[in-house]
Amino acid sequence: MRCLLGLAAFLAALTPAGAATRRDASPRDAPIRVAYDPPILATDVAIHRELKRRRVLEGLRTAIGGVRLPHPLTLRLSACGGAADAWYESRSRTVTVCYAYVLDVQARAPAEPSHAGVSRRDAIVGPIAQVFLHEVGHALFDILDVPLLGREEDAADQFAALVLLELPPAQARGAVEGIAHLLRSHASEESVEEVLLADDHGLALQRLYNLLCLAYGADRRTFGDLVESGALPQTRAGQCAAEYHQAAYSLGRLFQHHLRVGGGERTRIPRAFRWMVRP
Ligand SMILES: [Zn+2]
Repeated sequence: MRCLLGLAAFLAALTPAGAATRRDASPRDAPIRVAYDPPILATDVAIHRELKRRRVLEGLRTAIGGVRLPHPLTLRLSACGGAADAWYESRSRTVTVCYAYVLDVQARAPAEPSHAGVSRRDAIVGPIAQVFLHEVGHALFDILDVPLLGREEDAADQFAALVLLELPPAQARGAVEGIAHLLRSHASEESVEEVLLADDHGLALQRLYNLLCLAYGADRRTFGDLVESGALPQTRAGQCAAEYHQAAYSLGRLFQHHLRVGGGERTRIPRAFRWMVRP
């Protein structure tokens, strides 16, 4: 049953009964720090002020606060020299999302609902939540020494998707539609060249279908029309329930010993991002 849970409670829900009560050898709980770097470009001034005023990083910190960390983690919003990028850096254990990335997501969002019915709000909130969760996924894999098979980029995408799919159906639906809008926008600019095929990230359309498959596999009632409309090919849809359950089972097993007993704050993850929708 889906409910209004933060990440820790989501992971706890995937954990076999009793497993979350086991303590590992971590001597203490390390802090999660947040940092809003000063803007450098004039275009970043307003977004920096708004992100800070809305305490977006503090919201993310609360959402992941149920995971016990053996080392500090820093969540950072930064100017990045104007690059529209986001990454996790292992040496400093820092997740960085650039102001220009947020601005790029805003620029790609439709002013009015798109042909596919995607609202501007969803086209902003979904992708911003996704990029933070994707990078936090990388961070947790590293800091908790989580073993992975397959490409880490795919695992980080799965991590972000599974968290978002735990939201109430309407919010999960909005997030998926918003992320799909961004991935289709990226796909329209991609050509299948060798350098892209060699990249450690999947192509935008592959990432899109992976997301839609997990969504359909998680909740056919909310996402069943993806197949009826042809957005998710029937040839893929048949295995999506198995794909979702495999990913959810793996995530639960991998994180089960890293959860704070009793769960974390019960926070709606996108709440911290809702402000970004311009009226
Ligand atoms: Zn990544």
